[in-house]
Amino acid sequence: MKWLTRWLGSPPPAPIDPALWQALLTRFDGAEVPSSARMLRWRDLTARFLADKAITPAADCALSESDRVLIAMLCCEPVLDLGYGWLRGWHQVIVYPGGFGVRRQHVDEDSGVLHEWDDELAGECWEQGPVILSLEDAIQAVDAPESGYHVVVHEIAHKLDLLDGSLDGTPPLDDAAWRRRWIADFQRAFDALRREVDAGRETLIDPYACEAPDEFFAVASEYHFTDPDLLAHAMPEVAAHLARFYHPS
Ligand SMILES: [Zn+2]
Repeated sequence: MKWLTRWLGSPPPAPIDPALWQALLTRFDGAEVPSSARMLRWRDLTARFLADKAITPAADCALSESDRVLIAMLCCEPVLDLGYGWLRGWHQVIVYPGGFGVRRQHVDEDSGVLHEWDDELAGECWEQGPVILSLEDAIQAVDAPESGYHVVVHEIAHKLDLLDGSLDGTPPLDDAAWRRRWIADFQRAFDALRREVDAGRETLIDPYACEAPDEFFAVASEYHFTDPDLLAHAMPEVAAHLARFYHPS
């Protein structure tokens, strides 16, 4: 049978129950009419995601069918205008019921002292491995949206960033001149935010963005999807790059 499958291509993914799809779509603020080409594309991407990637509960997380489809929808939303190929290279989403604890370690280079501490995370992604999410935080972005907070967008942005092999805040861009402008504009905005944070000033954008260039891209992406007007006001060049990147015409 193997040769036959190869010859015919992989079987089409199982369709999503129309009533469930309809119900989930109404939970999204600003979703278009379900019959629009974009929403139909979203449904197809979601079905493909469910067939292609394992969504694995962890720590006794009870995942309903509705939760699974919702997670797949959220993972596909950032690539709705980019295409499914942008989700290549990884195969699993691990879902915790809420924030999950991780043990961090850091060796102080001067003193050689090992520091260890516990962090609670809403999401994490491994370079060649799964995306890890808190279900509670993932759902919050749909049912109680907050400006600049969208854990699934954040983790998917890291995955897009990693597609060219380096986690550096720049996803693969086909146009070399655009890539140069992107890097310069992102660096300028990153430095400006860092100056504001260092001076102790209140910032429009979450200061977590200046942890590192990759976090800056992930956090800016969260604003792009939750509060694009604020992002355009705070960082117009970055907002324009993200609009062009996430929504190629
Ligand atoms: Zn991050």
